[in-house]
Amino acid sequence: MSRVCPATSALAPQEAERLAALPGIVMDADTEPYHCDYAQHGPDVRHTACVLEQEVDGRSVLWWLVWGNEGQRDVVAAPGCRKIVRNETCLLIKGHPGDCDQEIGFTREELRGGLR
Ligand SMILES: [Zn+2]
Ligand SMILES: [Zn+2]
Repeated sequence: MSRVCPATSALAPQEAERLAALPGIVMDADTEPYHCDYAQHGPDVRHTACVLEQEVDGRSVLWWLVWGNEGQRDVVAAPGCRKIVRNETCLLIKGHPGDCDQEIGFTREELRGGLR
């Protein structure tokens, strides 16, 4: 897994609590550290990890923890990348840097069809 960015970050307890209170949660948020989903990226691109999947009116909403090396961080709802790579949907945030790759980031099982 040497291609994967080594950065990690975790949700603060109050961030995890806020996410846990959202309706229609499919994939739980917790306060364990998340690895950056990107294989590699420049210093101008902030690290990103999918921390929650929510289902609203039958549609999947993905929440991402986005953080920089200098402590700036956001928890945002944003679409996932829908590009198909090797017959699988890419599991990164839309507009991500680098190639599409379904083998990094959260697992297919965790998504359970959320991006289809
Ligand atoms: Zn990163
Ligand atoms: Zn992609």
